[in-house]
Amino acid sequence: MDTPTAQTLSDNPITRRQKHYRRKNRYADAFESAGLQKEAQVLRDCHETEILAACSNCGHAWWVPYRCRTRVCPLCSYKVMLERSQLMLALCRGMDHPKLLTLTMPTWTDDPKQGIRFLRASFARLRRTALLRKVVGGAYQIELIPKQNGWHIHIHVLMDAPYLPYQLIYSAWQKITGINVPQIDIRAASDPAAQVYVCKYAAKSVSFNDSPDVIVAWYLATKGQRLFATFGKWYNKKLRDIAPELCPPVAPSICPHCNAEKTTFLARDGPHIYGWDVWKDIKAHICPDDITMRDDATVKGILYGPETQPTKPTQTDPTDPITQPRDLLDNRIYGVQ
Ligand SMILES: [Zn+2]
Ligand SMILES: [Zn+2]
Repeated sequence: MDTPTAQTLSDNPITRRQKHYRRKNRYADAFESAGLQKEAQVLRDCHETEILAACSNCGHAWWVPYRCRTRVCPLCSYKVMLERSQLMLALCRGMDHPKLLTLTMPTWTDDPKQGIRFLRASFARLRRTALLRKVVGGAYQIELIPKQNGWHIHIHVLMDAPYLPYQLIYSAWQKITGINVPQIDIRAASDPAAQVYVCKYAAKSVSFNDSPDVIVAWYLATKGQRLFATFGKWYNKKLRDIAPELCPPVAPSICPHCNAEKTTFLARDGPHIYGWDVWKDIKAHICPDDITMRDDATVKGILYGPETQPTKPTQTDPTDPITQPRDLLDNRIYGVQ
C-alpha cells in the first residue's frame, strides 16, 4: 500500500469528519463562554448522544443518534451546503443563460440583521427594474463575512439572464442602495466546469475555518434570518422537484419492530397527531422513566465497552439497534428525525 501523502490524508473523509467533530466541540466551548448554554449543549450533543424514537403503531421505543441540524454545526451544515450546491447546479443546467451576479455593500457597522434585510429588499427592487425583467428565476445566497468593525454582507444570485449589462446594473444598484462606489460582479456559467465552480462558490453562507468566537457572532447576526431562497420560476422548488434523477429514493421511516410505515416519531416531541392528554398516556408507556436522551458517556459505554458503563438508567430492549455498527445505525434513522 502506498504511504499516504498530505494530499490523500486531507481527502480522507474520516479525517475530515474527525476535524468537523473537533471543530464542533470547540464551537460548543465558544458558545458556552459567551453564555449561550443551550446552543453549546445542542452542539455538544450532536452526533454524540442519542434520543429515543418510538412507533405509534406498536408502542416500541429505540435509540437513534441525535442530529442538531443547526447552521453553525460543522457536521450538520456541511450536508446542507452540499445539497444546496447540488440544487443550484440543477437549476443552472435548466437555464438557457446561467449567470452569477454578486452584489455587495460597504462594511455594515449597524445591526447585521438590518443589513441582511436591507440587502434582500434592495435586490427585490433591482429585480423589479426593466434590467432584470427577462429573468425568469433563480436562487440567491446571502453571505456574511466578519470584518474588524462590522460585516461584509453580500448576495450571490444565480439566474437565467440572456444579457446583464454591467454598467447599467452597477448604476441601478448604486441608485437603489445609495452606495457611492458599489462592487458588483457578473459572470456567465455557460460550460459545465464553470457551473460546478459557480455553484460551489455561491452555496456557502459561512466558512468553518473561522475561529470559534467569530462563529458565535455569526450565529447571533444571522439567527432567524433566511439566507438562501429560490425565486421566480423555481420559487420554493427543491432538488427533488427539479432533478428527481439526482435524488436517491427516500427510505420510508419504517418501524424496526412492526414494519409499519410513517408511524415513527421522537419521544421527546411526541407524535404530533395526538393532543397532549393522549400523548401523556402514551409517553408513560413508551418511556416510563421519562428519559428521552442518552448522554455521550452512556453511548460510548454501550458502543466501546464496559470501562465507561452508563451512569444513567437506560431503556433496555433486546432488539435495541445500538448494538449494530454506528454507520448502520446512521443509515436507518433517515425519516425518523
Ligand atoms: Zn412499530
Ligand atoms: Zn449538528
